[in-house]
Amino acid sequence: MSEINTRFHTGAPQKLEERFAARASQMLPSEIRSLFAVASRPEIVSLAGGMPNLSALPMDMMASVVNELILTNGAEALQYGSGQGHPKLRELICDVMALEGIRANADDIVVTTGSQQALDLISRIFIDPGDVVLVEAPSYVGALGTFRQYQASVVHVEMDQDGLVPQSLREAITVTRVAGRKIKFLYLIPNYQNPTGVLLPADRRTEILAICREEGIFVVEDNPYGLLGFDRPSPNAMRAEDSENVIYLGSFSKTIASGLRIGWALVPQSLKDKLVIASESSILCPSNFTQLTIANYLTHQPWRDQIASFCEVYKVRRDAMLESLDEYFPKEATWTKPGGGFYVWVNLPPEIDTKAMMPKAIVAKVAYVPGTAFYADGFGSWSMRLSYCHPTPERIREGVKALGHVVHQEMNRRGSALN
Ligand code: PMP
Repeated sequence: MSEINTRFHTGAPQKLEERFAARASQMLPSEIRSLFAVASRPEIVSLAGGMPNLSALPMDMMASVVNELILTNGAEALQYGSGQGHPKLRELICDVMALEGIRANADDIVVTTGSQQALDLISRIFIDPGDVVLVEAPSYVGALGTFRQYQASVVHVEMDQDGLVPQSLREAITVTRVAGRKIKFLYLIPNYQNPTGVLLPADRRTEILAICREEGIFVVEDNPYGLLGFDRPSPNAMRAEDSENVIYLGSFSKTIASGLRIGWALVPQSLKDKLVIASESSILCPSNFTQLTIANYLTHQPWRDQIASFCEVYKVRRDAMLESLDEYFPKEATWTKPGGGFYVWVNLPPEIDTKAMMPKAIVAKVAYVPGTAFYADGFGSWSMRLSYCHPTPERIREGVKALGHVVHQEMNRRGSALN
């Protein structure tokens, strides 16, 4: 009895952190998450979150799709399903991807709970602590958080107004390899990138694919915004050009509804089994209910017209934002002019710290995301991401006006501090 006691009660209790696995130290709240609580107050104009705008989605139509599904196929819809995803939906996903030039086999698709889960699974399969992941500078905050949790070392690669710069990619690969480090994949968002709104032109896609093929580096092409081009279709997906070396991630979050939580990964055949096994261990199977809702919607509803309606909603908001930036922001600021998607990236003069400026913006009743959220290395302090997807055009104008005023004040304050 006493032996058992001495064996199991050895000194002071450990702190909770000491009981966690090492990787838990990398599970940190994102800058965006802590902002959401403030930004969602009704009096604040939130240019912060990337919430899709559902105002153009006819709810009576969605209700009838769901109603019909439960009445005609409820037993299947409410049951467990295949770990890889429902075969009917995987076939229909092939039709969606065909719009971007992809000819896929439904067997190479793994349905996930949003493309965020696909990012997690791919990270779990590929990343050992210390492995390098190449990403655009700046990049999607949710991907950076996932890579960090798997203890990857993120190496940013320069972008310009046309997206990732191929020559900078070559240099980053050389520098990383000379330092003796393993590169696991390149992660990029070629269409209306989050957070910059920039589009990667076709010739750069080809060049980047060639570099990665030569160097034996997988490309993870994250494409939630590809069908949200306002004036013209985006170039073919990178996966359309290379089915061996590209892991393509798609999502219905922006083209139907994010609450359904359905995305997918189209992977080279050799990766499929690993991905399914990894997914089964986290969720058993994606929701049959929402997969079949989407399958019925895609089969019976005019989904291409619906995407066109969403584009119209976003285009009007993009225009409101660009016009009001022209009107209210100082001439020293520059910003991207997205042809689709949700985001504008603003660069202010380098002496402005957008994170430190945030409380002043909140007082002025407007929220944005400071640029540092989109870098793994602390860069981006004078930049910010503004989303135009959710507020009405009037609210966007109001928010940009208030923010422009805060920026002017900050520049004046800085200017007089330097004098
Ligand atoms: N990738 C990018 C670039 C995103 O912007 C988002 C969501 N904002 C996601 C992935 C995740 O989307 P979901 O899980 O809803 O498909």
